[in-house]
Amino acid sequence: MCPRYERKPGWFPLIAALLACPKCHTKIEYREPDKLRCPSCKVVYPIVDGIPVMLIEEAIPDEEEK
Ligand SMILES: [Zn+2]
Repeated sequence: MCPRYERKPGWFPLIAALLACPKCHTKIEYREPDKLRCPSCKVVYPIVDGIPVMLIEEAIPDEEEK
């Protein structure tokens, strides 16, 4: 087991602070165990195998929104 590939959810909020939405360039927020949310587009970007998928095509409509 290489610690480099350990999936530590603890660092996802740090990634979120560094990344911006590819669509609108708004700062994204960390959500749930494995999602990054754009509050502007109201979509979530999945984190797959510890890697954030910041692709417009992969964006999922945010269900939190009423
Ligand atoms: Zn956005």
